[in-house]
Amino acid sequence: EVRSLARLRDIPAETRDGQRITLEVNLELPREVDQAALVGAEGVGLLRTEFMYMNRDDLPGEDEQYAALAEIVRTMRGRPVTVRTLDVGGEKLASSLGDHLAESQNPALGLRAIRLSLKEPKLLRTQLAAILRAGAHGPLRILLPMISNPGEVIAVRKELDKTARRLRRRDVSIADPLPPLGVMIEVPGAALAADSLAQTCDFFAIGTNDLTMYTLAIDRSEEQVAYLYNPLHPAVLRLIQFSVEAALHARIPVSVCGEMAGDPRFAALLVGLGVRELSMTAKALPRVKSRILGLDMQAAGRRARMIMDQVDSGRIATLLDDFNDTVV
Ligand code: PEP
Ligand code: MG
Repeated sequence: EVRSLARLRDIPAETRDGQRITLEVNLELPREVDQAALVGAEGVGLLRTEFMYMNRDDLPGEDEQYAALAEIVRTMRGRPVTVRTLDVGGEKLASSLGDHLAESQNPALGLRAIRLSLKEPKLLRTQLAAILRAGAHGPLRILLPMISNPGEVIAVRKELDKTARRLRRRDVSIADPLPPLGVMIEVPGAALAADSLAQTCDFFAIGTNDLTMYTLAIDRSEEQVAYLYNPLHPAVLRLIQFSVEAALHARIPVSVCGEMAGDPRFAALLVGLGVRELSMTAKALPRVKSRILGLDMQAAGRRARMIMDQVDSGRIATLLDDFNDTVV
């Protein structure tokens, strides 16, 4: 049975055999941060910053971004906030960026997310400066969307160092030490090169929404092929597994922050694959926590290994459902 929200909030997410799992929230709007406290989230695993750019004709300046981010960081009272840099393009359009995003035949494969930030250094610098300043108010991490090459991470780190030096010269208080710099693993090529990416960054956040879409070549918003969209496809699971193992080997933290992380049905599989950090909508968190509390880690690991030997997603779903039905 599902325990009451209030009771669950104060119980740490721990499997029956004592493995702690970090449960965090994804935020799309600043006001959602209040729900994070209500469900007892241990941090913000993904703060989407697109809200600052939506429904306007101009771009948000450094001070405006700083104010919005600092408020969220303060509200989280010492629990880390993972701020993702702008992730527009593809299905996510911002009118303030219209000029840069127009006329792509294939927006999902075009100038989006980190690619746009690197092409428009002023946009990136403004955002990095705001994030660094917000980091003076509490722990924060920087997350880069749609990374496909180590060079992109290196370029951002260079900008980050430069921006930090510029702010320090002006005596502006910023995060000290500089925040960890992480990458979204959401492009199949990034997952397959996760071992080399792990050398350039401080943490991974696996974005199963885009990873599933790009791996299976299924547009997330295309109804006619939606039936083929399946994170339990063995190809997707192998990419997740490879990324998690690369992170563990490089001793950097790895989280899952796609929709998959917020579905209690998948918790056993992700934990069994070695994931110890899940980020999801606040609404989804209590049910995932309930599932974690009922989980035996050793058994989940065995089931995950059994699942990873399968080649058929239907068989995988059955193995997972059977496990979920019996072990709770
Ligand atoms: C993802 O792709 O899984 C993800 C978390 O990012 P978004 O849903 O914002 O694209
Ligand atoms: Mg994504």
